[in-house]
Amino acid sequence: MPVCARHGEQGFHAFACRDVCVAVGTGGAALEVTWWQCLLDGESMFASLLCAGCIATHRLPPSPAALDDPRLSEDVPHQTLAVPICIRCFEEWRLARGVSVAGPYPGVPAGWSSSPDAEQNAAK
Ligand SMILES: [Zn+2]
Ligand SMILES: [Zn+2]
Repeated sequence: MPVCARHGEQGFHAFACRDVCVAVGTGGAALEVTWWQCLLDGESMFASLLCAGCIATHRLPPSPAALDDPRLSEDVPHQTLAVPICIRCFEEWRLARGVSVAGPYPGVPAGWSSSPDAEQNAAK
């Protein structure tokens, strides 16, 4: 997993489409973001923060989608739709832009400290 230049290895990394990554990386304008999840037999196989444009362009079925859904084209470009992103950077952008994520977006994982200092203090 890549290391965030700002948050280091602290960050839990999620996946997002390239547009969301660019918006977060450049502090760009708000996008319509969906926590797009793909299930196989009810188990989550894949999830990514996708903009509405990507969902439309790739004709993705609504989230959560089944991996064996025939509407799911096999040539979904992972390099465009599954770019690793730092969840802390995403959260900062999301809160600054007032973006709400559609779908069961888990946010920052439980037990994940918002600041490295707080975690160190708690461990003392
Ligand atoms: Zn996109
Ligand atoms: Zn970061």
